[in-house]
Amino acid sequence: MLIVGAGPAGSACATVLAQAGVDVLLVDQQPFPRVKVCGDGLVPDTHLALQRLGVLEAVLAQAHPVRAVRCVSQRAGTLEVPGQLAVLPRERLDQILLDHAVARGAQFQAPWKLEEPIDDPSGRAIGARVSQAGQVREVLADRVVLATGGRIPAMLKAGLVTQRRPSAVALRAYLRCADAPGLPTDSLDFVWHARLRPGYGWVFPCGKGLYNVGVGVFDRHRDSDGGRDAEGSASSGNLRQLLDAFGRCYAPAGHLLKHGEMLELRGAPLRCTLTGAQSGRPGVMATGEAIGSTYDFTGEGIGKAMETGILAAEAILRGREHGSGEADVRVDYAARLAELRPRFELYARANAVNRHPWLADLVVWRARRSAHLRRRMSDMLEERFNPGHLFTARGFWKLLTR
Ligand SMILES: Cc1cc2nc3c(=O)[nH]c(=O)nc-3n(C[C@H](O)[C@H](O)[C@H](O)COP(=O)(O)OP(=O)(O)OC[C@H]3O[C@@H](n4cnc5c(N)ncnc54)[C@H](O)[C@@H]3O)c2cc1C
Repeated sequence: MLIVGAGPAGSACATVLAQAGVDVLLVDQQPFPRVKVCGDGLVPDTHLALQRLGVLEAVLAQAHPVRAVRCVSQRAGTLEVPGQLAVLPRERLDQILLDHAVARGAQFQAPWKLEEPIDDPSGRAIGARVSQAGQVREVLADRVVLATGGRIPAMLKAGLVTQRRPSAVALRAYLRCADAPGLPTDSLDFVWHARLRPGYGWVFPCGKGLYNVGVGVFDRHRDSDGGRDAEGSASSGNLRQLLDAFGRCYAPAGHLLKHGEMLELRGAPLRCTLTGAQSGRPGVMATGEAIGSTYDFTGEGIGKAMETGILAAEAILRGREHGSGEADVRVDYAARLAELRPRFELYARANAVNRHPWLADLVVWRARRSAHLRRRMSDMLEERFNPGHLFTARGFWKLLTR
């Protein structure tokens, strides 16, 4: 089995397959440890997936513990939602996940870049051409799993992209600052403000005076300027302006941006709502953010990337157990992904908050007065309640009345 991409999706898939005795070669175009542009926030679904893989303890031993999400609205103040949370820079998280996959028996090679799948005359992939330092080699495999993340070149070469434009673009900074007035070191701050629409800003503490500060613009796929920034790059100037606006409208972020030491500033596209790509074709399966496994509205994706990677691995294992054909395995995988779809669609609906930040004012204002709604918000964080339900006619009525 050839798995391309050693992010959370690829490493999770490799772990499950390797521990079941499958011969797995996991490759990445970057040598590890490698930087990945991310907010580094580990929300409850990530904890669950890490637990399933048997690596939660190892991650929490290195992560900065966090007690609550703080929703910061423009006019209604803040609301704390407690939950099982942590922050760990991806450079370290992804290394732990990769080490775990290797410990379970996967082989790893990097920097190996997928150039293109190799197809037999019937159009079924039988391996891939990968390059290393300009040398191209052919790797034959009974199946290629693409876990190549939100940047689309590999998926384009495999012929799986149905929408080039990303769902969102985001910019994150690592800032080191000795003091951070008004900023608890044990909460993930999400900030909605009219100047940040259609998106939000965040400040996540990594511990030891290091902060991950960023802004994301959601709803990119609804814009009309023709896919110009399919890789998120053409809009990085706008994102820089948005980050400055974040500093002006949220004082703790402003303090960090003004007085902190900027260690790194990078942007990246996000692909959300299980849209934008097919999950496979003969001989190829795709998983993680490559198939849009990141949630719209919040941009959380580490947990769901692992979940889809595990689903891909489980479909392959079921196929082996039952002697199913290659196509049946893909159908099985697509069916498991389809079960996740309604949850993703509700997150897309909740994206209304990013477009209309007055909705955040309303939710925070109501929740501060309603124990029922505060419980709902906590359920939302723990994935027992989907935020999209708040933005149905019934949910909206309950929001105003309970
Ligand atoms: C700014 C920002 C902030 C975010 N904040 C959060 C957050 O706080 N919490 C959260 O849960 N999610 C967050 N996300 C989403 C999260 O980063 C993604 O959902 C997650 O990384 C997806 O995992 P993945 O394994 O699918 O892809 P990735 O993590 O992107 O891994 C893909 C891997 O594939 C490799 N690759 C790509 N092409 C090739 C090729 N041709 N050959 C070989 N290797 C290749 C890459 O080098 C990479 O290592 C954020 C995203 C962004 C952009």
